[in-house]
Amino acid sequence: MDTLARLRIGMAESGIQAILVSDPVNVGWLTGFSGTFGRVIVTPDNAVFVTDSRYTLQASEEVRSMPTAWFASPVDGDEFVAIQAKKLGVKTLAFEATTPYEQWQKMTEKFNGICLVPAADLLADLRMTKSADEIALVREACGIADAAFEHITRMIQPGVTEIDVCLDLEFYIRRQEADIAFPSIVVSGNRSARPHGKPSEKKLEVGDFVTLDFGARVHGYNSDITRTVVVGEASERHREIYSAVLEAQLAAIDTIRAGVTAKTVDGLVRDMFAKRDLAKYFGHGLGHGLGRLVHDSGRLSQSSTNVIGPGQIWTIEPGVYIEGFGGVRIEDDVLITDSGVEVLTHSPKELTILPSV
Ligand code: ZN
Ligand code: ZN
Repeated sequence: MDTLARLRIGMAESGIQAILVSDPVNVGWLTGFSGTFGRVIVTPDNAVFVTDSRYTLQASEEVRSMPTAWFASPVDGDEFVAIQAKKLGVKTLAFEATTPYEQWQKMTEKFNGICLVPAADLLADLRMTKSADEIALVREACGIADAAFEHITRMIQPGVTEIDVCLDLEFYIRRQEADIAFPSIVVSGNRSARPHGKPSEKKLEVGDFVTLDFGARVHGYNSDITRTVVVGEASERHREIYSAVLEAQLAAIDTIRAGVTAKTVDGLVRDMFAKRDLAKYFGHGLGHGLGRLVHDSGRLSQSSTNVIGPGQIWTIEPGVYIEGFGGVRIEDDVLITDSGVEVLTHSPKELTILPSV
């Protein structure tokens, strides 16, 4: 079923007669359009894609499932969208939860005669379940991330800076005709205790944990992987912390499947860490939904109300971060299938000491 048909089913279930889609992530999901300005009006029987003159040619190539209406200066975009909605006979128009306040204010001025009502985050929920084509793109993005990790292990040695590792990693990803999914994290030694630290001029040293968190984006779909390695030699403490994180990560992958609650999966890891007195070092959620956004809808956390379902893709990324020593995070991307899970990232996870001798 195509995304437009799925949206219409969702609209019917939510009692929505007409919706205005303007979030670029949702516009891309619904139409395939990759430009920055697009609006879609969807009713049970009609749909129209609206863009401006910069994108007329691009829209004719990318948007196949509905007609395009476009405007040029000096026509006002919101006024033009309102006219298209009126042409479709729209009286009440739902707008997305992610609509910026400023845009909503402008719409209330320009949409005379149309009642604007907020819609729940309908499209973000629909986007959680991936089609075969979407899964294929995430799989490709995961393959590039795995290749990038293998590539970068050759560079990890004492004296190389975090920023140089990061640049080489990102160059490699870009060279595979992919985009980087997000600015990569490369942090070492004490700095690896910062879960989202920025790469610095610090040089890698013997005895450092090095955490690399990065991903590739292929035709709008992301991968997100983390590996932690040790430089030169690993102490007993390195091994203990690493094996605790790995054990928790593997247990979470064993537990996550259709029908289980997100809270249960997250709780399992928290309990395992608590038994080793490490729970206080794990401050973030266990994982998140992955797709057109890196942090897409869905959270594996204690406050999450998500229930795991087939076709969803989740990251599983427990971490332990000890100030003054360092941190470990291990992250994989996992597709939920009807019968279990398929791990989409395949980089090795046993404790790796680099450079290898
Ligand atoms: Zn990550
Ligand atoms: Zn992540």
